[in-house]
Amino acid sequence: MSIKLYYTSPNIFEWKTKITNKYEEKNRLIVTLEQTNFYPEGGGQPFDFGTIDGINIIEVFEKNNEVFHVLNEMPQQSEVTCKVEKNRRIEHSQHHTGQHLLSAVCLELFNIPTVSFHLGREVVTIDLDIPDLSEEKLFLIENRVNEYIYENKNIHTYFATKQQLSKIPLTKVPDISGDIRIVEIEGIDYSACCGTHVSQTGEIGLLKILKAEKHRGKTRVYFKCGLRAIKDYHEKHQILTEITKKFSSPIDLVLQKIIKLESDQKLTEKKLENALSENAKLIASEILLSSKKGVIIESFEEKSIKEIQLIALELSKKTNTLIILVSLQENKLVMIHNGLTDFHCGKWLNDHLKKFHGKGGGDANKAQAIFNHADDLNKFVKYTEEYINGLTTV
Ligand SMILES: [Zn+2]
Repeated sequence: MSIKLYYTSPNIFEWKTKITNKYEEKNRLIVTLEQTNFYPEGGGQPFDFGTIDGINIIEVFEKNNEVFHVLNEMPQQSEVTCKVEKNRRIEHSQHHTGQHLLSAVCLELFNIPTVSFHLGREVVTIDLDIPDLSEEKLFLIENRVNEYIYENKNIHTYFATKQQLSKIPLTKVPDISGDIRIVEIEGIDYSACCGTHVSQTGEIGLLKILKAEKHRGKTRVYFKCGLRAIKDYHEKHQILTEITKKFSSPIDLVLQKIIKLESDQKLTEKKLENALSENAKLIASEILLSSKKGVIIESFEEKSIKEIQLIALELSKKTNTLIILVSLQENKLVMIHNGLTDFHCGKWLNDHLKKFHGKGGGDANKAQAIFNHADDLNKFVKYTEEYINGLTTV
């Protein structure tokens, strides 16, 4: 059985040891070690990364109390040098201990128990047994946790027998046989836990609650500790600094500037809409003046489909004929009439668009289509025009 250094000396990141067994199983190369500080997956904490004689570890798992290391190459020597990926381990220990502290404070301040813990690569969460939690309470919880971090409380880990357990005020007694590993944050919390932890609360560095959301009747709290919290702060601060530069505004006034900009933009959009609508009326009148009898077909080089829809709508108010307007800018067209023309726009597109590699649809009075190439669009318009002219001459 391996000696598990992660229980006794979690801060050893490099050590020499002997391989006790190596074999291949289901295309996986597996070794066991005399002494291992590679934490296997368990207790909500992911396994460690690292190397054995420079060979990368793919996975570490525990079975029947033994730790198995999966490698992508078998080590040649029986005595090997092992290295744990330090930052990943420190991040896990900081978050695991941070979670104990956070859960303990939720109990202490508001009597809210924790029901689950997730430690992922990006996201770390606890689920609290309460349907809702206010911002004020979250703020108080975060503050108290960080006070405990600055007080630099000692953390002890030890194994306790079933008899000894009765004297330990555990929040949750695990249902397992044999000795139970206790993680004690002096004067604050006793938890049964097999993960890796820091030895003083100060090593957590800090704990930042990011958000809380409702999740299946509970409250899921997202948080970051130590190295990850600092990285998060750095990234967010950089974004905020860029924003303040863009707005030439100090941080405390930038939000006000964004709100003002938002309302200004809404006003501008409204004005633009009105102008486009007025313009559409003018263009519609010009088209009507110069149009002959029969279908109205017009193409526009520099108008969006939105502007063209407005013009088409204005035209349909003033004439009973079919109107086809084309946006060459977007390779789109709109077909419309006021219902007094016996032509089903949607059905026409449905029956003939495919031949011209177009897509679209609509109802009897109004339809819209888009084409990959202007060439196809022009051919489709010509095809439609010839058909309608044929109809009118018959
Ligand atoms: Zn733990």
